[in-house]
Amino acid sequence: MDEEIVHVLKRIVGEENVIKNGIDAYIYDETPKFILPEPSKDVIVVKPGNTKEISEIMKFANRRKIPVIVRGGGTGLSGGVIPIQPSIIISMERLNKIIEIDEDNLMVVCEAGVTLHQLLKTLERVPNLSFPPHPGDESATIGGLVVNNSGGARAVKYGIMRNYVVGLEVVLPDGKILKLGGKVIKNATGYDLLHLIIGSEGTLCIVTKVILRLLPEIGDTYTLVIPFNRTEDAIKSVPEILKKVMPMAIEYIEREAIKAGEKATGKKWPSKEGNADLMVIIDGKSEEELMKKAEMIEKIVKEYNAIDVYVAISRKEQRDVLEIRSLIYEGLKDETIEVLDVSVPPASIAEYVEKCKDKAESIGIRVLHFGHAGDGNVHQQIMKSSIGDWKEKYEEFKSYAFETAMKLGGYITAEHGIGIVKKRDMTKTLPKRAIELMKEIKRIFDPNNILNPGKVVDLY
Ligand SMILES: Cc1cc2nc3c(=O)[nH]c(=O)nc-3n(C[C@H](O)[C@H](O)[C@H](O)COP(=O)(O)OP(=O)(O)OC[C@H]3O[C@@H](n4cnc5c(N)ncnc54)[C@H](O)[C@@H]3O)c2cc1C
Repeated sequence: MDEEIVHVLKRIVGEENVIKNGIDAYIYDETPKFILPEPSKDVIVVKPGNTKEISEIMKFANRRKIPVIVRGGGTGLSGGVIPIQPSIIISMERLNKIIEIDEDNLMVVCEAGVTLHQLLKTLERVPNLSFPPHPGDESATIGGLVVNNSGGARAVKYGIMRNYVVGLEVVLPDGKILKLGGKVIKNATGYDLLHLIIGSEGTLCIVTKVILRLLPEIGDTYTLVIPFNRTEDAIKSVPEILKKVMPMAIEYIEREAIKAGEKATGKKWPSKEGNADLMVIIDGKSEEELMKKAEMIEKIVKEYNAIDVYVAISRKEQRDVLEIRSLIYEGLKDETIEVLDVSVPPASIAEYVEKCKDKAESIGIRVLHFGHAGDGNVHQQIMKSSIGDWKEKYEEFKSYAFETAMKLGGYITAEHGIGIVKKRDMTKTLPKRAIELMKEIKRIFDPNNILNPGKVVDLY
């Protein structure tokens, strides 16, 4: 990177906040490496300390037409932070202040680099208030979660990021600072730019501050682990459970995926039998309420041939189960080609999973299925180990999975986003006019195409 650029950036953020060496920690995310382009190493990392500095960086970059990539926690799964050309990388790590917990309005105001872990820990000390969704890896930042419109296991009852964001401060590609929304729950004033930014994957502006709604504390939880012999039975019981109990999370997990989570954590999953389990988390204000819900679920799943129902009650037992579920990806990462993340109508999950399993078997690739059964979001981990000519088979399986999801009325990604890895697939699966409109929106926000260029849509 040109010395003059380095000099200007040092002037804006201070010499100690510009990094030229050790950049490897800033040019990858959690996307499996098999599907990523080689990142450009001709990058400079800057760590601004406030919105004004970000605005100055953008004014300079826009004038000089230098690509800029914003980096939050680097937990993304679609290659959003990978620099594909010489770039300035803005790391949000110093914008890490929780500015205000507004107990009267039930809201929190924070800088965009605050991590999910930091927010959850802070709220533990605030009586009666909580942020119930759990939208990603806890080292993800709030800004990252907003621009990815992240979801997570609790979406079925508590919604996704979009349902909690009421206000944003953003820096536009030309450096102008804009406030959208505020401490208001309803706002019908013109086109909803706030919601356009949510899910924009760092291509339209840089989020610097976020106002999120909070909810009253969710009470206690039990975690039920329910093994089944047949996928179909497990998934068919889900709509019944939703209608009668509405749990906080219903996860579907194949046995092989459970084993990977056990390996990654060194912990033991309560059940050993069967081929696929449901993990159901229920919440309630009293033990009676929780017991009643657990009994109702037991009655339902027994009608769908559940082998058994294990109930984790202590915090430790529940934490262990959740940890195994959360670290499935970690346990399989080195052999994973890609994690698909389709969204289908919840009642179609069984059909989708069965069709994909048949397809995987017919072409001879190993695919593990798990995911958020309650909201129709299936994760499919495509594995490299059993494939010699993996590229062709992987492409064939992926195309089949996407076509099947679309035929069932679904979409190719529920929460991981497009980034760089699903751009071509999005173009193939969305109407042409929808893609054109997205490009026009990108041009309006970023006519010089400097903010995360080559992600989500290609302008040129
Ligand atoms: C183990 C694991 C579990 C996960 N579980 C879930 C899950 O349950 N649900 C789910 O939805 N996701 C999940 N994810 C994915 C990931 O946590 C989310 O996509 C998250 O939103 C990424 O946030 P981040 O701060 O790490 O963003 P990064 O990876 O740093 O960036 C992702 C994209 O956001 C942009 N960006 C980041 N911050 C800003 C900002 N302030 N302004 C503008 N653009 C910005 C970047 O440029 C990039 O395009 C998981 C990931 C892992 C590794």
